[in-house]
Amino acid sequence: MAEKCLCGNVVIQQTSWTQANPGRRFAACEPVCSRAQVIIPGLLRRINKLEEEKMELEAKLAKNALKKHGSCHLKEKS
Ligand SMILES: [Zn+2]
Repeated sequence: MAEKCLCGNVVIQQTSWTQANPGRRFAACEPVCSRAQVIIPGLLRRINKLEEEKMELEAKLAKNALKKHGSCHLKEKS
């Protein structure tokens, strides 16, 4: 089955939006239709924001794990 663009057109070519987000690829018809032009940057922004939040949470979890480990260690010592 052919891949379809956000506008419903069949995608002939994969368009990579390297400027907006390297490594990510989105399917869009060529030339990129106005609908995809509007929707894709919005999606990329959302992904970036969610990834930032995820990284922050992971950092927090790592910190908490370290703290716990640190207190366990202290307990063991005393
Ligand atoms: Zn399209």
